[in-house]
Amino acid sequence: MTTLLVKGGKVIGPSGAVDADVLVDGERIVSLTVPGAITTADKIVDATGKYVIPGGVDAHTHMELPFGGTFASDTFETGTRAAAWGGTTTIIDFAVQRTGERVQDGLAAWHAKAAGNCHVDYAFHQIIGGVDDDSLKAMDALVAEEGISSFKLFMAYPGVFYSDDGQILRAMQKARENGAMIMMHAENGIAIDVLVAQALARGETDPIHHGITRPAALEAEATSRAIYLAEVARDTPLYIVHLSASGALARVAEARDAGRNVFAETCPQYLYLTLEDQLGAPGFEGAKWVCSTPLRSKHESHGRDLWRGLRTNDLSVVSTDHCPFCFKDQKELGVGDFSKIPNGIGGVEHRVDLLYQGVVDGQLSLERWVETIATTPARMFGLYPRKGVIAPGSDADIVVYDPNGRTRISVETHHMNMDHSAFEGYEIAGKVDTVISRGSVLLADGVYGGRKGHGQYLRRGLSQYLA
Ligand SMILES: [Zn+2]
Ligand SMILES: [Zn+2]
Repeated sequence: MTTLLVKGGKVIGPSGAVDADVLVDGERIVSLTVPGAITTADKIVDATGKYVIPGGVDAHTHMELPFGGTFASDTFETGTRAAAWGGTTTIIDFAVQRTGERVQDGLAAWHAKAAGNCHVDYAFHQIIGGVDDDSLKAMDALVAEEGISSFKLFMAYPGVFYSDDGQILRAMQKARENGAMIMMHAENGIAIDVLVAQALARGETDPIHHGITRPAALEAEATSRAIYLAEVARDTPLYIVHLSASGALARVAEARDAGRNVFAETCPQYLYLTLEDQLGAPGFEGAKWVCSTPLRSKHESHGRDLWRGLRTNDLSVVSTDHCPFCFKDQKELGVGDFSKIPNGIGGVEHRVDLLYQGVVDGQLSLERWVETIATTPARMFGLYPRKGVIAPGSDADIVVYDPNGRTRISVETHHMNMDHSAFEGYEIAGKVDTVISRGSVLLADGVYGGRKGHGQYLRRGLSQYLA
């Protein structure tokens, strides 16, 4: 085994910051010691003046997702390479069962895409696009045999992924039996489709109408309905994905205050970008920021409320919902009809930096930064303490972060397979310095040394937030 010593840095964990050296043997962390106690190792990473944090865990990505007649433009290879550049060393992607397909076939297809191609470790959630006797049985099998303990359902996209309330209730009851987490895309898709048809009939075809036809009230309504349905299913664990709006957050906070098994994530795009400034960009430009749930109005309090939710733990996790589409030939499918624009924003490379900017701006503590990007997603989805923490026995997934560095986000410098950046020109007062995955140095001194095939499939246990 080769040893690696990360020395001189400040190790950040949920319980605080501590000056410590981190000794790695092979793929695991073996000890944290007082600075200078160990002086020799096969390899030494100097972290003096820098933060040492667990590798990021992005619990929501969509590599190669088929959507709207095309595919998300990052493969598992390009997407996990970009993740590594940005300090994320674990992704949880969504295997897809579409209506009419067998769950196991969808999962097998996802394994085939990912196996041997990933630069960092990966796990799967399973999308259930057709709840019936067969897929309910498959949920048990995935939990017991495949290390998949969370299932995403959709209250939107009728005819593609949509589940009606009866189907949702049945899946929730099944999850209550087998211990799994239900993840919910909470938007009232039936009502949204009416608004979309009405807008198009009025000739309102620009990208901003994607946002206008998905009002915050329909996210709040669906979030509330999901919370009530989960209550009927004997408080089955419920996780609201890509929460974007104040009203939905209020429903989650209320459920959490009542002691319910309700959790939620948000994404960097909802913290920084808005309906008017991005989705409302002139001409067809706004198509770059078409995603669902949509960006919200800057004239309301959404962004501010989401930062507060992160501080108060009403929002537990920040994921990216990384679902990139190129502008040319992909987003352009929706010229003249916003409803044909593929939904998604690419950001897997920038989450660690964008949330660190929240620390610089006084929105989050250092400890809360690490919790929301690494520790909590690992615990939420049954990967802790293998992932999400710097501790003896954990995988040596370590990021050295330089608070004196600077990062400028641009299509010119990013590594995602996209012809534009949703965060073009954003300046971060910090920089990912060194990235280590299971003891292998993927990035150091600006030189990338990772390779496809290094990343391994992670079988997950049940969520560790449940009694
Ligand atoms: Zn979704
Ligand atoms: Zn998603």
